[in-house]
Amino acid sequence: MNPESSKARLSVVATPIGNLEDITLRALRTLKECDVIYAEDTRVISKLLARYEIKKPLQRLDAATEMKKAEEIISRLESGEHVVLVSDAGTPGISDPGARLIAQVRTFSPDMRIEAVPGPSALAAAISIAGMESDGFSFFGFLPHKKGRQTMLKKIAANEIPVVLYESPHRIEKLLAELAEIGASRVVIARELTKLHEEIVSGSVAEVQAHFADHPDTVRGEFVVIVTP
Ligand code: SAM
Repeated sequence: MNPESSKARLSVVATPIGNLEDITLRALRTLKECDVIYAEDTRVISKLLARYEIKKPLQRLDAATEMKKAEEIISRLESGEHVVLVSDAGTPGISDPGARLIAQVRTFSPDMRIEAVPGPSALAAAISIAGMESDGFSFFGFLPHKKGRQTMLKKIAANEIPVVLYESPHRIEKLLAELAEIGASRVVIARELTKLHEEIVSGSVAEVQAHFADHPDTVRGEFVVIVTP
C-alpha cells in the first residue's frame, strides 16, 4: 500500500505530566481516530482514555520491548494502520521509549509518515517557570545510577550553561549532596509540576538541602533539577 494515499502513520503523542486537562485538542483527536495505541504502561494511559471516554485497543511498548515490538508496529503501518505511541507522561522519546522504535520505522519503512503531536514535557514546564537568566541549557535526563555517574557529574561541573536533570525522590538528596561536592552554585527544583503539590525550591545547594531536611514530607513525587554552574 502506498503510505501517501492511506491513513497509515505513526503519531507520537504527548500526554499530561499530572493534570489530565493538559492535553491538546489534536492529541485527543489523534487518540480518537487511531487504530491502536502503544503505551508504556497500559493502566496509566487507560485513566487518561477513560477521562475522555476514548476506547481503543491498547498494546504495551516499554524500554524492554521496544525493539521487539518495532517489527509488529512496522507491519501494522505497512498494512495501512494509524498507530499511536504514548509514554506514561509527557513527551515520548524524552527520557522515555520512542527513539529506537522511530529509528527502526525510518530504516525499514522509509516512506512512512511519522508525526509529532506535541504537548507537555516536564523539561519544558520546569524551564518555563524556573526564571533562569540564561540563553540556553543542557538537558542530561536521568544521571546513571552507578557506572558513568561521576563522569556526568564532572560534565555538569564543567558546563557553562545550566543543566537540567530528571531525578526520582529516592535519589534527590543524594544528588544534592553530589552537586554540593562538585561546587554547583545554585539549583532550582521543580517538584510535582501541574499537580496538587507543585512546588519550586530554589537557592544555593545548601539552602535547598536545608529546605528538604526541614520538610521531609516534600521529598516525594517527581523532580526536575536545574543546576547553575
Ligand atoms: N517523557 C517525560 C517528559 O516529557 O517529561 C519524562 C519521562 S521520565 C521517565 C520521568 C521523569 O520526568 C520523572 O522522574 C521526573 O524527573 C520528570 N517528571 C515527570 N513528570 C513530572 C512532574 N509532574 N513534575 C516534575 N517532574 C516530572
